[in-house]
Amino acid sequence: MKLSLTKVVNGCRLGKIKNLGKTRDHTMDIPGCLLYTKTGSAPHLTHHTLRNIHGVPAMAQLTLSSLAEQHEVLTEYKEGVGKFIGMPESLLYCSLHDPVSPCPAGYVTNKVLQKSVIIGVIEGGDVMEERLRSARETAKRPVGGFLLDGFQGNPTTLETRLCLLSSVTAELPEDKPRLISGIGRPDEVLKCIERGVDLFESFFPYQVTERGGALTFSFDYQLNPEEILLQQNGTQEEIKCVDQIKKMEITGCNQEITSFEINLKEKMYQEDFNPLVRGCSCYCCKNHTRAYIHHLLVTNELLAGVLLMMHNFEHYFGFFHSIREALKNDKLAQLKELIHRQAS
Ligand SMILES: [Zn+2]
Repeated sequence: MKLSLTKVVNGCRLGKIKNLGKTRDHTMDIPGCLLYTKTGSAPHLTHHTLRNIHGVPAMAQLTLSSLAEQHEVLTEYKEGVGKFIGMPESLLYCSLHDPVSPCPAGYVTNKVLQKSVIIGVIEGGDVMEERLRSARETAKRPVGGFLLDGFQGNPTTLETRLCLLSSVTAELPEDKPRLISGIGRPDEVLKCIERGVDLFESFFPYQVTERGGALTFSFDYQLNPEEILLQQNGTQEEIKCVDQIKKMEITGCNQEITSFEINLKEKMYQEDFNPLVRGCSCYCCKNHTRAYIHHLLVTNELLAGVLLMMHNFEHYFGFFHSIREALKNDKLAQLKELIHRQAS
């Protein structure tokens, strides 16, 4: 595994991770994200459906707990995890925890992983001294890259942790990739990229799907504000969702809903015949309306999850493509301003 940086702007790193996989001929662009999976399969999607999504990352994320459960079967199978889960060509990254449903640590003796590149984990909680010690000691070890763990948190702790993050990445060698766990919101992704993070997980679009949401935030930094509203709402008028969000807070449901998504379960979408996002080239937006997804959700049809997952993944992967393009063209400030405007 080799990282080559093509550009660094204000701490944001643009480049490629090369020599990946058994044949060492795979590459991955950074900043980027991994493909979130549940035991090797993208949630709600078959491998065939997954192929219809544009921009799917080259590397899929598995969790060690799911591998540990299959340990005896995999030992007996002898042909490797990739082939077992039907993704023989995919690059696999095995994390200790599932970011969506964390589980206790402790599965560290799995022989299936012995030939893999090891990613060093930087720990230390919120203590600067311990974080720096962890970073310096891990950097001395023969690791292929670094996992920045435990930086997620609520908005009040995030700012403190971002300061820690800058200090930690300053201690790490430039030529190895840095992956962060538990960060998914677009505004937080950009803040981490500015502090030298290269790779993210893609659990965020899955969480949005699970609560019946569709990602509608704009990452097209070349559009003017009116065009952005048209793309998001199908009208040039801003739709105020404040009452809707307030109502949810009172009833205590869907508290995690963010300003980057719309809640398709809401009655206001019952007769909305626009696609989820105008101009989106995903299968769902090309073939279906918001009203249809609303109908699928209220009648508990499994197809709702499939179609929302297709859109949400494609939208999120498109966001990362946009970050790389903005970095390449020195437009990251415009993208940042656009995302910041939509965050709340
Ligand atoms: Zn779409």
